[in-house]
Amino acid sequence: MTDQKTNTGADFSRTDPAALEDRIRSAALRPTRQRLALAELLFSNGNRHLTAEKLHSEVLHSGVKISLATIYNNLHQFTAAGLLREVVVDSSKSYFDTNVTPHHHFFHEDEGRLQDIESSELTVLGIPNLPAGTAISSIDVIVRLSKQSS
Ligand SMILES: [Zn+2]
Repeated sequence: MTDQKTNTGADFSRTDPAALEDRIRSAALRPTRQRLALAELLFSNGNRHLTAEKLHSEVLHSGVKISLATIYNNLHQFTAAGLLREVVVDSSKSYFDTNVTPHHHFFHEDEGRLQDIESSELTVLGIPNLPAGTAISSIDVIVRLSKQSS
């Protein structure tokens, strides 16, 4: 149902700046200082789900001055280049996922937190007839969770 890409996220688990620079170059982006600073924050801590606002506060905390608008631009460029995946939780909330392999999500509504579901853990049944001239490029399921009232 989805194209099984190799796990291109694996290289990011290392903080090696040269690897980050290579990754940005391989995505046909110029490794500017801003992009390298953002890539370091995004890709040095395992798989992450971040909003632009959260990344902005981490950037400010690290002593780098990058505007929120510039962060948005770079996140969208990274996404277009396949380095990140955008997960739209609702019309006002997007998360950027450093795990670009096919998978699904739990969304903890009370915490505003995404959690990965391995694609092997969830099967989608009963896919409707597709509109003419279309093909499925991917199916992304978000299972929305609230705290269970006892
Ligand atoms: Zn994810």
